[in-house]
Amino acid sequence: MEQPDLTPRQRRRRIVAITLGLAACYAFGRVWRPGSIAWHRLPVDLAAGLALGFLFGLVSIEGFDRIQRRGKDRPLARACRYGFGMALWGAMMSLIMPASPSGNVMFLLLIPIGVGVGLIVAGRGSRVGDSRHCPKCDYEFAFAEDDPDAPIRCPECGTGWLGRLVTGRKVRSPSLFWSGVAVLAGTALLVAAALQGSGLSRALPTPALIAWAGSPLNIRGKSAWAELANRTLTPEQRARLAARLINRRRDGRWWLGIGATEWLEAEVAAGTLPPDVHERFCAEMFTGAEIDAPRSVRVGEPFTVGLKHTRSNDGFRYKCFIYLGGFAVGDGPLLGRRSEGFYPLLIDRARRSPYTDVSQTLVADRPGRTVVRADLWIMVQTGFPAQITWDDDGTPVIPPNAAWAKRLELTREIEVLP
Ligand SMILES: [Zn+2]
Repeated sequence: MEQPDLTPRQRRRRIVAITLGLAACYAFGRVWRPGSIAWHRLPVDLAAGLALGFLFGLVSIEGFDRIQRRGKDRPLARACRYGFGMALWGAMMSLIMPASPSGNVMFLLLIPIGVGVGLIVAGRGSRVGDSRHCPKCDYEFAFAEDDPDAPIRCPECGTGWLGRLVTGRKVRSPSLFWSGVAVLAGTALLVAAALQGSGLSRALPTPALIAWAGSPLNIRGKSAWAELANRTLTPEQRARLAARLINRRRDGRWWLGIGATEWLEAEVAAGTLPPDVHERFCAEMFTGAEIDAPRSVRVGEPFTVGLKHTRSNDGFRYKCFIYLGGFAVGDGPLLGRRSEGFYPLLIDRARRSPYTDVSQTLVADRPGRTVVRADLWIMVQTGFPAQITWDDDGTPVIPPNAAWAKRLELTREIEVLP
């Protein structure tokens, strides 16, 4: 980060490189989801990434360079040189990384560590000016270079100082130094509390405990969640916390973690959540499916259809399964109804080796544009997927282990050639 001797042209090049690199990482991290890419978000995320990258590049290259040229030995210049750059990069990495909460927290930690190191280095001081001093006690050597009357030893501490003199008066700033130490010590305490946790959790009042348990900083959250299970929460507190966790699950940027998932599932099982939150917990467990079919087929020629990009957000106790009522061409009859339930991920034809197959052979009997339909039932169940039976009207008999069920009809346009 610190490059006081870069030419303006080199600085501009670095800013451009940082801008483009960060924009690419940022956009990729937002747009990419396991198995699919949200192209519709690309323009906005790319623009945000470019703005963010340019800002970081400007501050870390141009800004730091200016500070260092202005005051070569000033505390702020030294802090930038040794620590503040680290803090800046930590902030940036935690912004662009799409990864796990613990990964992001590692980068977040670079911020206080960088600030602390910068302050300590700045506070320890630097040597200013051309005066010469005792290497041990800093007493000034106030004689000419070849003065025969110059003492061999430092009059202050008695060290033999000839030939060992250091140049420049030492300027220290104890307040900067100790504030740096305080920042580092505070960070270490916070990390220790986050890793240990149980003592801290027990000491927190319930609202603070809720905030702490649900925050991404709660890396190994089991103790906070276990303590939360002992507290009496108001219905509003339960609902708010559950909604927050469900939002986080939906956004998919963080895995909820074992403690949070167990807490949420226990609330669902106990029936303590309001109906709308309960509904979201179940409904948003299913995150999507598409029909996999050829774009165009010929009249009378059999073709195969199946499902792809089938996804769900499962927990431990509750899982989301797909039941297939069948596929059809246009208004034709449903074919391929199955009595078993499927883990969404395992019937995805877009993956290389699906271990279960729900594909079905269909035939279109007249030319023109039409649709392929899939009649699906999404169920949230406890335990393994239940075998079901179908009623005559085409609805499934809901099994006893089902907590939630909903019909879903998918369609996909195809062209039938004569
Ligand atoms: Zn001395």
